[in-house]
Amino acid sequence: MIDREQQQLLEQHLPPVPEWSGVQERSPAPPLTARRKTRPVKAGSVTIGGGAPISVQSMTTTKTDDWAATLEQVNQLADAGCEIVRISVPDPKAAAACKRIKEGSPVPLVADIHFDHRFALAAIEAGWDKLRLNPGNIRDANKVREVVRAAANRGIPIRIGVNNGSLAPDIVQRYGHTPEGMVESALRHIRILEELDFFDIVVSLKAHDVRTTVAAYRLMAGKVDYPFHLGVTEAGTLRSGTVKSSVGLGILLAEGLGDTIRVSLTADPVEEVPVCWELLKSLGLRERGVEITSCPSCGRVQIDIVKLAEQVERITAEYRAPVKVAVMGCAVNGPGEASMADVGIAGGKGMGLIYRDGVKVRSLPESELLAGLREEIERVIQERYPDYV
Ligand code: SF4
Repeated sequence: MIDREQQQLLEQHLPPVPEWSGVQERSPAPPLTARRKTRPVKAGSVTIGGGAPISVQSMTTTKTDDWAATLEQVNQLADAGCEIVRISVPDPKAAAACKRIKEGSPVPLVADIHFDHRFALAAIEAGWDKLRLNPGNIRDANKVREVVRAAANRGIPIRIGVNNGSLAPDIVQRYGHTPEGMVESALRHIRILEELDFFDIVVSLKAHDVRTTVAAYRLMAGKVDYPFHLGVTEAGTLRSGTVKSSVGLGILLAEGLGDTIRVSLTADPVEEVPVCWELLKSLGLRERGVEITSCPSCGRVQIDIVKLAEQVERITAEYRAPVKVAVMGCAVNGPGEASMADVGIAGGKGMGLIYRDGVKVRSLPESELLAGLREEIERVIQERYPDYV
């Protein structure tokens, strides 16, 4: 800790800082378009649609028959905040692993099925919570009926997942690889389920490009009330996929479309989860963990703000409370941003000021700023978010 004399010395090096006399009023952000009204379906403990919080999904990349490795990845995903995990069940060995995976999973599981209805039945039998299956791809109507009856008996929803790259040949011939073709494909699968009196349906319409994806969901929104699983398929690597998914999903979410989301990245699937969360947090649709505002730094900065912001992000990753933290380089924007955060830092020359609700509470040398900030964040959690302690 620094004594009073040192503190006065430190403050002499600072540019003048505006002071606030009390807690600042935070103006609420303008609202987004109202969320589309959808019928709710249940995937285990998670409700999708019907106004439920928009849930975060991802998908394992392990060989499903290696149930221990798959379960380990399911747990990693759940620890990162993934609320529903999808797993492909492509062969008899994977189907045989379903029971053990389900027994150890802390979150609802979705079986990703193509063509072979026996693997869907195995996943249902093992207690999995949802299927991703396009009934039109299972040619035999009796087999479709068998799966749909089993899903209905267990209250398991089915997601119809249309990908623009794999539309039926007659649809491509009539519509091309277009939003209209994707919607027609989804409606065709939906009709099969509806004719069997099955309505626990979720729909996804994914293309690898943003504009087609957005147009397809918009078009579909006027035709059915089933909840939407949003995603841009094969979006790309960590950076490009994050940007593409954020633009596509961001547009749709801002328009009130979307009930559950997945960001597809060519990367460790655990990386997908924080991207989903940041996306939802950025639109004010969900809260989870610390939200950091940090300045990009510029010629005015007199502390290592980039390093400090990275350190703040690292140390705050463990907190679940939705604390707002501002990490600002100087007194130009620092106090103003700090006034809109629970806790904020404004850097000075080799030191910084810490704010609570815009009120300056401490001055610390740069080397002590991180520890000081942590203390203040923990105080905020104790006082303001006791449920998260
Ligand atoms: S807060 Fe200060 S250091 Fe950061 S970008 Fe703005 S002017 Fe530059």
